[in-house]
Amino acid sequence: MTKRLLQDQKERFEKLKTPFYYYDTDLLAETLSVIKCETDKHEGWHLHYAVKACANPKVLRQIQQAGFGADCVSGGEIRTCLENGFPADEIVFAGVGKADWEIELALEAGIQYFNVESIPELEVIAEIATRMNKIANVSFRINPDVGAHTHSHITTGLAENKFGIAKEDMLHVIQVAEGLPSVRFVGLHFHIGSQILQMDDFEALCYRINELQDELEAAGIAEVHNINVGGGLGIDYDNPDENPIPDFKSYFETYAKYLKLRPGQRLHFELGRAVVGQCGSLITRCLYIKQAKQKQFVIVDAGMTDLMRPALYGAKHHIQNLTSSIFHHPSSIKYDIVGPICESSDTFAKDYLLPESRRGDLLVIRSVGAYGETMASQYNCRELPQAYTTADM
Ligand SMILES: *Cc1c(COP(=O)(O)O)cnc(C)c1O
Repeated sequence: MTKRLLQDQKERFEKLKTPFYYYDTDLLAETLSVIKCETDKHEGWHLHYAVKACANPKVLRQIQQAGFGADCVSGGEIRTCLENGFPADEIVFAGVGKADWEIELALEAGIQYFNVESIPELEVIAEIATRMNKIANVSFRINPDVGAHTHSHITTGLAENKFGIAKEDMLHVIQVAEGLPSVRFVGLHFHIGSQILQMDDFEALCYRINELQDELEAAGIAEVHNINVGGGLGIDYDNPDENPIPDFKSYFETYAKYLKLRPGQRLHFELGRAVVGQCGSLITRCLYIKQAKQKQFVIVDAGMTDLMRPALYGAKHHIQNLTSSIFHHPSSIKYDIVGPICESSDTFAKDYLLPESRRGDLLVIRSVGAYGETMASQYNCRELPQAYTTADM
C-alpha cells in the first residue's frame, strides 16, 4: 500500500529540492484510528502523544484533531503544542532538567500536570507556583528498575539511568509533596525505554506498578488519580510495507490484562515512535557513485544533519532506490550509502543491496517519521530539511 504510494509520488518528488521529509498523512490517520479504537474500549484510558518524536506542525495538528493530548519534554515543545491547537490542560510535561522559565511557562499556560523527576525539582516547582499564586499538579516519575530488550542508549527504566525517582523513595516524595501547599499530587509516571517489541517488557512494568500500588495502599495513600505508563512501543524498521501499523492490539491488551487499576483510576499512555515512525520517509538524491578499492559508495545529498539516528544509535533503516525501479528489479549491488557531512559516522547503511544506482536517482529512507526531522541540525552550516505531507503532493 505505502510502497505503491511512494512509487506513485515519484514524479512529484522529482520536482522538489532534496533532501526532504515526506509524511504519509493517510497512514497517520489510519494509525490514529487504530489507537483510538483500542483505547476507547477502556474507560479512562488516554494517550498523550510524545511530541519529541515528531513536532512537524501538520503532523501535530492531525494528532490533536484526532483527540490526543501531548507529552512535552521542554518549554519549546509546550509552546509548539499551544501554537498547534493543543489545549493546555491536555499537555503533560516531563524531563530531568526543567528550567525555571519552562516551569513558569507551564504554570502560566495551566498544563495538566508535571512529571517530576527529583525532590530538588519538586521544591523548585513548589516555590515558583507559590510565587505565581498557582497550584501545580505533579505526578512522580518513578524509576521502576525494569529493563527493556532494546538498544542500551534508549533504555530509561533501569536503576542506573538518570531518569526518575528510585522506587524506594516513592513514599517519601509523595509525603514531601503532601506537605507543600502549592502542589497537588495527582499520579505516578513510568517510561522504560523505546523501540520495545517484546510485550513481556511491558508486562514486567505492570507487575512492578501493581507492587508499588500495593505499597501505597498499605501506607494509607489512597488517592492516585493517574497511572501514566509512558510509551516505548517499537515499529518494524525492516519491513515498513508489511507492517506499516504497529501491533497496538497486543500492546494495549498487555496493560488491560496485567495492570491492576484502582476504581476510578485513569491510565495515560505516551507513545511517540509507534504513532508517527512509519509515516515518514526521507527523500534524497544520489550525488555520486564512488568506486573505492574495497567498496562502492552511493553518496547522497541527505546527511546525518537531516537524519541522525544511524550516526547516533547505529539505527538501521530500509532504503530504496525510487528511480531504478527497485520494485521491479532485484537489488544486485552492495553499496555503502553515505552523506556529505565531514564525519565518518555520516553513514546510513553499509553493504546495502540496491539495484545499480546512478547520479540523480531518488532514494528513499523509510520509517523516519519519529526522531528524524526533530533531531535535524545545522552542522556544517546546512539548511534544515524541508517537509511535505500527502496533501502537498
Ligand atoms: C520519549 C518519551 C516517550 C515516547 O517514547 P517512544 O519510544 O517514542 O514511544 C514517552 N514518555 C517520555 C517521558 C519520553 O521521554
